[in-house]
Amino acid sequence: MRVRLSLSRQQRAAVELMRALAGGERALAALAADAVERELRAARPARWRGRRPSPRPVSRARAGEVDLVIAPGSGCALALAAGDRLRVEQIAGGQCVDLCAYARREPGLAFSASRTRALHGVHPTRGDMLWSGAPETPLLEIVADTAPGHDLCFPACTPFEYEPLTGRDDHASCAAIQAATLAHAGLAPRLAPHDPLNLWLPSEVGRDGALRSWPAACRRGDRVDLRALVDLVVVLCPCPDDLYGSSQYEPRAVRVLVRRGERGAQAGRGGVLAPAPAADLGARELRTIELPERLRAPLERMRADGWLGDRAAEVVRALLFRWWERRRTAQG
Ligand SMILES: [Zn+2]
Repeated sequence: MRVRLSLSRQQRAAVELMRALAGGERALAALAADAVERELRAARPARWRGRRPSPRPVSRARAGEVDLVIAPGSGCALALAAGDRLRVEQIAGGQCVDLCAYARREPGLAFSASRTRALHGVHPTRGDMLWSGAPETPLLEIVADTAPGHDLCFPACTPFEYEPLTGRDDHASCAAIQAATLAHAGLAPRLAPHDPLNLWLPSEVGRDGALRSWPAACRRGDRVDLRALVDLVVVLCPCPDDLYGSSQYEPRAVRVLVRRGERGAQAGRGGVLAPAPAADLGARELRTIELPERLRAPLERMRADGWLGDRAAEVVRALLFRWWERRRTAQG
């Protein structure tokens, strides 16, 4: 069967490293076929029982709402007043989004992933607050959540974690995008990046204490609504990860809506401080490969389940990089 893999610059670098370490000249098709067959022999992860939830319609913006799209590789800083409601929404689905937050009136009072984790566990959802460090203050409340499964374990990604998979040290990262977004909005160095809330990143803590993440499973139209409890700056960026599954191996844009509360509307506060220019994620290229015909039926079953993409080529790409991740990291 013939599939066409859409590969980013960093994914192509990973493929070259795979080929080099697999004996030099192994073709991409042979590596991909191996990865698929390994997955077929492995036990199906409990997390992927049944079918991935269906996409839903995206929401309609109301008059007066801020309604913007954050491109992959970019970030956005928003000024919110207490009472404003922020919605982060999936457009294509499968996209992790990093969220940082800072109180505007008290310099140094920033969102604390560790304090929030201590109070609400590692997967906060509706009804939970996002807390600052000392003096502990609730900054935001999650008031609606269509696809729970957000993460408070992992730091913002940096080139450090991509290098073992690509042999390169220039991967775009949430840490760099957050820093660039703060600088572009004129907020650096007063505000600095911190450990984020990783929206829609499935994660778990194993019995041995090891952390593990999974490809993002949220679908188009999934949304999380947060209510500002104090005047804030919020920084959001779609994670540019194309190797571990935080973007289903192809970073995509997400949507942000801000509905002003009474106070924010009266004061004229709130809005987009400065959408930062997007980092260059490089052009994607299509690689056509031929896989053994015996893989058609099992790939079709995995495609229908939806956890690793809606097309057979997306499933093959996901399995190839999941295999590579296990081979090259402590998760192996
Ligand atoms: Zn990231």
